[in-house]
Amino acid sequence: MNTMDLFPEVKRFLENPKRLFIGGEWVDAAAGKAFPVENPATLETIASVADAQSEDVDRAVSAARHALEGDWGRVSPADRTRFMLRLADLIEEDAENLGQIISLENGKPYSNAKNGEVVITANIIRYFAGWPSKIEGSTIPVSPRTGERMLNYTVKEPVGVCALIVPWNFPLSMCAWKLGPALATGCTAVLKPAEQTPLSALRLAELVARAGIPRGVLNVLTGFGSGAGAPLAAHNDVDKIAFTGSTGVGRLIAQSAVGNMKKVSLELGGKSPNIILPDANIIKAAKGAADGIFYNQGQVCTAASRLYVHESVLDQTLEELRKHAAAHVVGPGLDARSTMGPLVSSAQFNIVKDYIDGAVSEGAELVCGGQKPSDLGEGHFMSPTVFLDKNEQARIAREEIFGPVVTVMSWSDVDELVHRANNTPFGLAAGLWTNDLNQAHTIAGRLKAGSVWINCWNVVDPASPFGGYKQSGWGREMGKNVIDAYTETKSVFVNLGE
Ligand code: NAD
Repeated sequence: MNTMDLFPEVKRFLENPKRLFIGGEWVDAAAGKAFPVENPATLETIASVADAQSEDVDRAVSAARHALEGDWGRVSPADRTRFMLRLADLIEEDAENLGQIISLENGKPYSNAKNGEVVITANIIRYFAGWPSKIEGSTIPVSPRTGERMLNYTVKEPVGVCALIVPWNFPLSMCAWKLGPALATGCTAVLKPAEQTPLSALRLAELVARAGIPRGVLNVLTGFGSGAGAPLAAHNDVDKIAFTGSTGVGRLIAQSAVGNMKKVSLELGGKSPNIILPDANIIKAAKGAADGIFYNQGQVCTAASRLYVHESVLDQTLEELRKHAAAHVVGPGLDARSTMGPLVSSAQFNIVKDYIDGAVSEGAELVCGGQKPSDLGEGHFMSPTVFLDKNEQARIAREEIFGPVVTVMSWSDVDELVHRANNTPFGLAAGLWTNDLNQAHTIAGRLKAGSVWINCWNVVDPASPFGGYKQSGWGREMGKNVIDAYTETKSVFVNLGE
């Protein structure tokens, strides 16, 4: 193994006690409890992190409320932009340290963390930094029945205290997806990172403090879903909850939000269909299909996990997929040779393994992979896996696996194909590979998915809306659409007389 040494700053960061970030202070959990964070490549404990409970949730929400009604509420839009640009610069300057921290706790290759996730995070904050001075209301030509002259205008106000609950697959950029619009609109936030990957969120909090963003604007509660997430989602003084995670937990969040009717946005699971048409450039399409499922060890909500290949190009596509799977170097994220890291946890490994074993016993044809590589020790490694299946009802063809496992199915008729692609409770993403413009736009129009990619996959941009149809979520993040999710619109009538 050729694992890189930890940077001195990362060592310092890991050695310091990992406390909660509340009201600009680093504090222990009220109950004094902590939990270990594991490196999924080695199973070593990297750090011990405070375990927040209800009492800490109360403290964090109250700090966020205090900041909203105090200093932060008085910061001008131009100054919010300045704070955010400073934060984006600090994230970029810290890219190496953040990259190691992400790789250590999540498992992904260091280069993907540093050059991918960290860069994306800075870009998101920078994009949203442009928004504060552009969140405008409107004047509306109303027609009062009384004959009086009325001026009517709308004002966009911050929705208030936002609970941001995020998963472990992109532990830093998922925070930015939510923190960016929260800061831009003048909201305050209580962020709960996933229990598997709390460290990058804590590092982000350090940078938020260094950027000079006032105390209490961002609060970070490390902890578990039941201990910290559930009381946060149910809290009566939280005005909005933005959640990314599984559809099952999303349902619980929606239910608990009903108590005080807090606003809810949900980014949930997927089982995204990727379609190869007979005229496609198969070399490019197969590469796109492989990247679409193997990137981030397949732990991506938009993973291209159902691959529909036209029967005339099936053999060639399978051959290409085999090559791409074989070319992956599975290993620790901090080994520069690795192109695929471990899965995030033993729980995730067991879920993925269970799907693979089930598929084999249900009769799917294993094209390649399906095994833990034997030479990598204890880590939660899984080789890139390709199944060929004729049974559309098989669990691997219907359920989100969240691992490097693609199910390839063939098709021959376009109408039937579209029906099969849409025949899922999810609707997060879909894609197709073709050089036929007419087919491309026609099929894209018929696919029930929040993002459709033509001759590409996983293209996400802070300026473009992202979200799911059906059980893949509520609302859209990114772009101008998300501004509505973090603001209330007030309509003001002024009587100007007769
Ligand atoms: P998860 O739903 O188990 O956990 C997500 C977050 O919710 C974590 O912070 C967790 O601690 C918290 N949580 C768990 N139970 C809770 C509860 N009862 N109340 C409040 N919070 C609770 O999901 P995960 O396993 O961390 O992530 C994988 C899932 O996330 C997949 O289904 C994936 O598709 C989805 N995901 C979706 C998107 C998207 O943008 N649509 C992006 C990434 C991941």
